[in-house]
Amino acid sequence: MRAADIADQLSTVLVTEEQIHAKLDEIAARVAADYAGKDLLLIGVLKGAVMVMADFSRALPETVPMDWMAVSSYGAATKSSGVVQIRKDLDTDLHGKHVLIVEDIIDSGLTLSWLLENFASRGAESIEVFALLRKPDAAKVHVDCKYIGFDIPNEFVVGYGLDYAEGYRNLRDVAVLAPHVYS
Ligand code: 5GP
Ligand code: MG
Ligand code: MG
Repeated sequence: MRAADIADQLSTVLVTEEQIHAKLDEIAARVAADYAGKDLLLIGVLKGAVMVMADFSRALPETVPMDWMAVSSYGAATKSSGVVQIRKDLDTDLHGKHVLIVEDIIDSGLTLSWLLENFASRGAESIEVFALLRKPDAAKVHVDCKYIGFDIPNEFVVGYGLDYAEGYRNLRDVAVLAPHVYS
């Protein structure tokens, strides 16, 4: 798709690439200090967290293992179903690990609260969450999230890993998808 066509499908750019990278550097410095000397494992939630994981992990000063979990709660729609399905499980034993879940966005919070319970039952030493984006007005359940990039309005966004019907993930900014695209 050409740039002009893409621009017509977005309404507002909420977070730019520059803002994202500055924030990732800031959070990486906090995480490096908080986990100094600890056995840290990053767990990315596929597919949305791919871009965050790639840039965040490279902003960390030391090498760190990462694993991936694929869950689905959305399909091609724009509202959470609340039903979480494991599509790909972890390869790593969590016993004794300090887990940091890396997420693209917390919307209803249903996916994360399910994941937190699931990981807690696998013997991790500690579990914290880093979400690049959060929609405070969309929360259905409270999720303790230690590291947050940006709070955004309750609108459907795409870009920087976030998709609509598998499109738009490779946009560099996070933008509101124009309602005419999906309504
Ligand atoms: P939850 O509602 O369970 O917090 O969100 C589950 C997942 O739905 C998120 O990890 C994300 O992949 C997707 N999601 C939530 N809000 C949005 C959004 O505004 N745009 C896109 N593209 N995906 C979203
Ligand atoms: Mg996600
Ligand atoms: Mg999606």
